[in-house]
Amino acid sequence: MRRLFAVFALVAGFLLTPVGADATVANVAPSATASASYTSPWESVAAINDGIDPDRSGDTRNRRWGTWPHAGEQWALLTWPSAQTISSVQVYFFDDGGGVRLPASWRLQRWDGDAYVDIPATYAIAADTYNTVTFPAVTTTRLRVVLRSGEASVGLLEIRALADSAGRQSGWSPPAALAAPLDEVWRHVESTGDPYGFRNYGWDQIISNGGSVNYCVRWDSTAPVSAELRDRIHAALARSFKKWMDVMAGHNGWPYAEVPVKVVGWAVRDRALLQWSDDSVDVYVGDMREDAPQCAEPCARLYNQSGAYPDCPGGASHHYDMSLWLTEGMQGGMGGDWGQRVGSEYLVGNLGSDDIHILLHEIGHSFGLNDFYDWTPSGQCCFLMKAGSATSITEFDAWMLRDVWRHLKSRYGY
Ligand SMILES: [Zn+2]
Repeated sequence: MRRLFAVFALVAGFLLTPVGADATVANVAPSATASASYTSPWESVAAINDGIDPDRSGDTRNRRWGTWPHAGEQWALLTWPSAQTISSVQVYFFDDGGGVRLPASWRLQRWDGDAYVDIPATYAIAADTYNTVTFPAVTTTRLRVVLRSGEASVGLLEIRALADSAGRQSGWSPPAALAAPLDEVWRHVESTGDPYGFRNYGWDQIISNGGSVNYCVRWDSTAPVSAELRDRIHAALARSFKKWMDVMAGHNGWPYAEVPVKVVGWAVRDRALLQWSDDSVDVYVGDMREDAPQCAEPCARLYNQSGAYPDCPGGASHHYDMSLWLTEGMQGGMGGDWGQRVGSEYLVGNLGSDDIHILLHEIGHSFGLNDFYDWTPSGQCCFLMKAGSATSITEFDAWMLRDVWRHLKSRYGY
C-alpha cells in the first residue's frame, strides 16, 4: 500500500549545481579542498588543485606544494563536498633539484567511509610531465596521493582528477528486454502523480542531507522495548535501506557509495515502555498524530521541507526525514515520503530475516515506486513492488529504482 503526503506549499527551491552536458572528461580537482600531511611555510598546498598546468617540475613561477625538510611518507588530500566518480588521475611532481625531489614511490588512495584504501594501478614517476594513472572508476569524497620520499623531501605542483562526464550522461544501460516494460512503468508513474513536482522523495532527503537519512521510530505498541531490541530494529532498518542503496552505488552519477541510516528519535505513548536510560536517541512521549505517537513535528522533514529546523530541540542534526511506524496488530504495510509503516510484531519477528520484504517494498514507495495492483509491465511476472509476487529486490525492481533516478537526477545537478 502507498500513501504520499503532498506538502507542496512548504517546498522551497532547490539549489542546483548544473553539470555540463558535454561529453568531455572533466577535471574535478579544482572543486575539492586541498590539505596535506605537512606543507613548508613558504609553499602552498592550494597549488595542487589550482588548475595551473606547470611548465616543468622545477617551476619557479607558480605556487607549489612541498614538504621540506620532512621526509618519509607524506600525503596530499583532495576532499569534495559530494562523492565524485573518478577513473583517471594525473600528477605533476615538484622537483627543484635540491631539497625536493621525485618520490621513490607513490600511490593513490580513496576514502571508503571508514578508511583509506589503496587504488591498485601502475604508478609512473617522471619529471616535467603529468604522470597518468587509470583504473576502474571509483566513487569517493576523498582522494589521497601518498608519496614515499627518495633522496630528498617530496612535493606536487598539480593534481588532475578526471571524471568521465560522457559516462555520466550515458549511464543508462538496462538489459534490452527491460527497456520497454521500464518505459511503461515510468509512463504509469507520470500518469498517476507529478514526479517532477514532488520534492520529498527519499532522493530529495538524502541529497539534502549530503548522503544520509534520519529516522524516527514511532512505537505504536504496548510492548516494552529493551536497548538490545532498539538496536536490532535500527540494524534491520539500516540493512533493508542499504539493499536499495546498493542498487544505486556507482550507477549513472548517483553520488553516494554508502547512505548511512541514523535513528535520531523514538516516539512512544509511555516512557516506561523504553527500557533504556542512555541518551543515544531523542525520546518523545505522548506527542500523538493519527492516534499514534510521533517525534516532534518541528523536527520532521515532512513539515519543514525548506531543510531548516529552527524549532527542533537539538537543531537540524536531530531532524528526521522519515518515520519507521510500527503498529501493533497491523497486517501489510504502507509507504511514502513520510516513511514506512508495518506491523510491530511482523518486524520484531523478522529481525533476523535477510529480506524483510514488506519493509523493503514500503521503502521502494519512499523513492517513488508505485504499486502494481491492476497491471503488470510487459514480459514481467514477479518482482518486489508487485506485492505478493516476490520477497526480495529483483533485477526489475533495481532497474525501476534506477529509472526514477534517471528521470529526476537533473534537478539535483547530476
Ligand atoms: Zn505497496
